Amino acid sequence: MAKEYTLSIIKPDGVERNLVGKIVSQFEAQGLTVAGIKKIQLSKKAAESFYGEHRERGFFGELVDFMVRSPVVVIALHGEGAIQKNRDTMGATNPAQAAEGTIRKLYSKSIGENTVHGSDSVQASAREVGFFFAASELV
Ligand code: ATP
Ligand code: MG
Repeated sequence: MAKEYTLSIIKPDGVERNLVGKIVSQFEAQGLTVAGIKKIQLSKKAAESFYGEHRERGFFGELVDFMVRSPVVVIALHGEGAIQKNRDTMGATNPAQAAEGTIRKLYSKSIGENTVHGSDSVQASAREVGFFFAASELV
């Protein structure tokens, strides 16, 4: 399997509860490495643009309000099969359906506040890593 980059975001509910270290540890336990990491406050405009594919969904306003509530930590993960490993480590979107041991099963309270984002395809990974990181910031 080829080495890939993918984007993880620790969402406001995760950062607020000081879960950054625990979450990064789970990625590292899967063999992924942190190629870039930063804590940022998303603007409303940036959150709307990032989640633009969901613009027509009923929960879009709620999603954007949540993502700008407080800072997030954006992480470029690198490794063999990074996109799938990130998704597997996160668990299902709805924490009630997430597998045991996944980040969302362990830490998420609802489908809205589900602690992490992860790119879901090669195309999404390229767009999303590029949304937050310059190539020179990935080491
Ligand atoms: P993410 O894109 O954040 O990694 P995902 O790929 O598992 O999550 P998507 O279907 O892309 O899920 O939805 C994006 C985000 O929108 C979800 O993570 C969640 O925060 C929010 N969301 C999705 N469905 C709902 C819903 N029914 N009600 C409220 N929020 C939702
Ligand atoms: Mg998604």
